[in-house]
Amino acid sequence: MRCIFCLHERPPSVEHVFPLAIGGRLTIGRVCKSCNSMLGSRVDAALSDFLPIRQRRAELRLAGNGQVSPLPFDMLLGVLTLAGQPERRVETKYAPTTGKLDHRLLHHAANVVLPDGKKVRQISIDARNKDQIPKIIQRERKRH
Ligand SMILES: [Zn+2]
Repeated sequence: MRCIFCLHERPPSVEHVFPLAIGGRLTIGRVCKSCNSMLGSRVDAALSDFLPIRQRRAELRLAGNGQVSPLPFDMLLGVLTLAGQPERRVETKYAPTTGKLDHRLLHHAANVVLPDGKKVRQISIDARNKDQIPKIIQRERKRH
């Protein structure tokens, strides 16, 4: 088979004309595996991960090759740093029970010199994570 992209004689692969991730069912067998892979990672991924399309995929529960449909807002999830305070990190999770995003300030530890000259380790955490204080202190003790 002569690939319609690279024009080399290579074995065909199943190419979705429109990405499976956006519901594409039409396939052709005129693209080699190498070109299909390149199209999937560059073109299809950019299209299916574009935020408005990703939101619609979540609404329609379109899975794609990964077999799992994206969650609403999952591109906004994860750990980010605060602007102007790069040492402070905020974790955002999706709460399926409420359908809302949950933002939590991750614990932060820093060496602080008190007015009397005493050096201490200061730890700050999100109040909702107070049940994790013993674990966080134990971890900080091991590190320092
Ligand atoms: Zn090719």
